Amino acid sequence: MFKGTFYVPQAKNEVVLSYAPGSPERALLKQTIEKMRSEQIEIPMYIGGKEVRTGNLVPITSPHDHKHILGYFHRGDASHVRMAIDAALAAKAKWIALPWEARAAIFLKAASLLSGPYRMKINAATMLCQSKTAHQAEIDSACELADFLRFNVQFMTEIYNSQPDSAPNEWNRIEYRPLEGFVFALTPFNFTAIAGNLPSSPAIMGNVVVWKPSNTQIYSAKVIMDIFREAGVPDGVINLMFVSGPVAGKEIFTHRDFAGIHYTGSTEVFHEMWKMIGDNIKTYKSYPRIVGETGGKDFVMVHNSAVPAQVATALVRGAFEYQGQKCSAASRAYIPASLWPAIKQEMLDDLNEIKMGPVEDFSNFMGAVIDESSFDKLSQYIERAKADSSCEIVFGGKCDKSKGYFIQPTVIKANNPMYETMQEELFGPVLTLHVYEDEKFEETLDILDKTSIYALTGSIFAQDRAVVDYVMKRLANAAGNFYINDKPTGAVVNQQPFGGARGSGTNDKAGSSLNLIRWTSPRSIKENFVTPTDYKYPFLREE
Ligand code: NAD
Repeated sequence: MFKGTFYVPQAKNEVVLSYAPGSPERALLKQTIEKMRSEQIEIPMYIGGKEVRTGNLVPITSPHDHKHILGYFHRGDASHVRMAIDAALAAKAKWIALPWEARAAIFLKAASLLSGPYRMKINAATMLCQSKTAHQAEIDSACELADFLRFNVQFMTEIYNSQPDSAPNEWNRIEYRPLEGFVFALTPFNFTAIAGNLPSSPAIMGNVVVWKPSNTQIYSAKVIMDIFREAGVPDGVINLMFVSGPVAGKEIFTHRDFAGIHYTGSTEVFHEMWKMIGDNIKTYKSYPRIVGETGGKDFVMVHNSAVPAQVATALVRGAFEYQGQKCSAASRAYIPASLWPAIKQEMLDDLNEIKMGPVEDFSNFMGAVIDESSFDKLSQYIERAKADSSCEIVFGGKCDKSKGYFIQPTVIKANNPMYETMQEELFGPVLTLHVYEDEKFEETLDILDKTSIYALTGSIFAQDRAVVDYVMKRLANAAGNFYINDKPTGAVVNQQPFGGARGSGTNDKAGSSLNLIRWTSPRSIKENFVTPTDYKYPFLREE
């Protein structure tokens, strides 16, 4: 076998297409959407290279047009979880035996397929089934996922290149082994890129994976699986199954070969799973890796030296793009009284202009929220705020689920900075703000830091540099991704590695080598070229 020291192509962030009127990509995307809307797809599970159909069909609909059926998926049960685990374990030996450059080539090819021939398909699936606009789908399902795949391959080589020193006459090496057993990837509805990243990043490091996506993201998950298969991911290395979360958890967390979980989703589910893993700790061969990125209650802190138009734009984009269903969405803001009239006016000007409706109409800035239970939860929060004399609805407040799950962008002004919507993650287009007396800036920082259990993202808006510096130190642990004079959303792979601490997760920074390192179990190897043959050290000799 010929050998060489190979370098992977330098990864670059995928260029975001504009979909502006007259652009070729706009015409192509519209055609793809039209085609998908006119068909009904049937999606099997993919386990060990087999397409598994159970006949237990669950309809897939559009959140913004919930009577329109786009297709069906085959729901599985506990037996399919066991089948997926067995398939993963059976594929392990061959996957490990492949050289790393073969794994690199497979996932680089997947990135090229995604950003090329599959781009419109994955964007259209994300738009129709997750109600993202063309721009939101493009930055997520096409660009961010391609970035994850390309940069993770590069990070893998950087990790492999990280090697120890050697003393004279010996050679020390570190071998980055995959984990013993299988990895469970459990993914949320709101980012197609996260759904693709959580199973592929452990697989890039040589692991085998059982993947369970959210029910409301299955269409784009199927497109990801098509890409992986065409790119050459061997059968059984990534197994896609559609079962309920608790059913999957029961089988997986009691299995001896469970080696780790790569999770993104709500904090509550993470707590439950961590507890189950703890309860079963004696069952496992190794201590499982637990990597979880969870909820957020992301803040915008405004100082009275800030520019009102900048704050208003950050709030409108940060709180309402993708209907506020980003873990990083701005959902609480602290505004000095002196700037409130100007910020309010700027925000109202924008909000009065914003259009909400089906995402197939490209002039809509917002679509619908993901499903009925999310709609019902959000409308209850809004109704409670309307009835509470300490709150004022500054904008919005209307909810209508007759055709799609539409919640108007809503701004609540809460006199009480500890009001429930200042503390809890709502995961929808609802921004709560608290207007503070300018001289209570310090006190407000304290309140901000203590209000919620989360520490995912946050922003400071101030022109006064000393204030920026002070707030950075004062809020050192309030956010894993901290922004200065910018909205707290929109992290880019390899530019702002993403993750939070406290109740927001294990902060293993997706989009950086810090995440990939969790999917290896390094082995230190020492080879001695002059092996001793006498046990006696020199000091033992007589004078
Ligand atoms: P979710 O917690 O409802 O579901 C996440 C996944 O867990 C889904 O696949 C779901 O089917 C599964 N699940 C649900 N209950 C389960 C159980 N009891 N046992 C095992 N699995 C179970 O989250 P979601 O609504 O899909 O996504 C939104 C949440 O994800 C928000 O809280 C958001 O903040 C968070 N999120 C965080 C990040 C981040 O990077 N921190 C990114 C995106 C989303």
